Amino acid sequence: MPLKEFDLTGKSAVVIGGGRGIGKGIALALAEAGADVLVAARTAEQVEQTALEIRNLDRKGIALCADATKDDDIDTVVAAAISEWGRIDILVNSAGAGSRKPIVPLPDYKPAWGQAVKDFFSPTSDEEWHHMVDANLTTIFLATRAVGPHMIRQNKGKIINITSMTGAKGLSYQVVYCTTKAAVSMYTRALALEWARYNINVNAIGPGYVATEMTAMFFENETVRDKLLRSVPLGRLCLPREVGLLAVYLASEASDYLTGQTIYLDGGVLA
Ligand code: NAD
Repeated sequence: MPLKEFDLTGKSAVVIGGGRGIGKGIALALAEAGADVLVAARTAEQVEQTALEIRNLDRKGIALCADATKDDDIDTVVAAAISEWGRIDILVNSAGAGSRKPIVPLPDYKPAWGQAVKDFFSPTSDEEWHHMVDANLTTIFLATRAVGPHMIRQNKGKIINITSMTGAKGLSYQVVYCTTKAAVSMYTRALALEWARYNINVNAIGPGYVATEMTAMFFENETVRDKLLRSVPLGRLCLPREVGLLAVYLASEASDYLTGQTIYLDGGVLA
């Protein structure tokens, strides 16, 4: 008999970035634990597929196409969840983007990342900077701002932001990515304090190397994969489902006394 504190039966969840990868792993794990889930992401086919798999678990699965960097889209997502359930118990922010590029060209540097390295020889542009801030940080600001009034009214809520272990460990050629991810952890800590009195838990998960479509181009390259895995004490990639299992804990009553934390699910890299 599973522990009752982990049971999400009757809970409603919104998973932004749930069309594939980590967000999909989380959406399915929440559904398996009992939650109904609205899945939002940019690609219709992908959100439909995740919602279908949720319905196959005998939970309500709703798909919506949305760009999480757009205020109107997020308002539509939140309005749809409220119209369906009258409340939002769980918000997961998993939309995000990666980048690998120096701030300015480094002519003496020889890329060791094969095809994974695209445009190494021009400076990071304003557009690239703003794109990363929008994808990794503005998305979380917009979603929490839209869901906040509902969770405050409910006097209860669980928010899970997906950051990265690179928010705690700087990496060359990922200055912008690391910076946006570190900012997600601070956003999580500060918001947790602001909303603690309304019983809203705000936590983050900082995954290490997870096998998803986003990282496939690195991990399909044997040299790159072997090099990365040598830095992982547990010696393998993380699976999206394993991030989902941690999200179930953070979404459930089992974690009611935990707030403002980033939990690094990194196979021991940061240890
Ligand atoms: P992914 O590219 O495989 O999936 C991302 C999902 O988010 C897709 O469904 C995509 O449509 C959606 N998405 C992206 N931007 C969006 C936007 N603006 N609006 C709506 N939906 C959007 O990526 P992933 O590997 O699953 O990564 C998910 C999150 O986890 C990201 O924030 C990423 O930085 C973080 N992360 C990934 C890894 C990893 O190794 N894969 C490690 C640490 C952190």
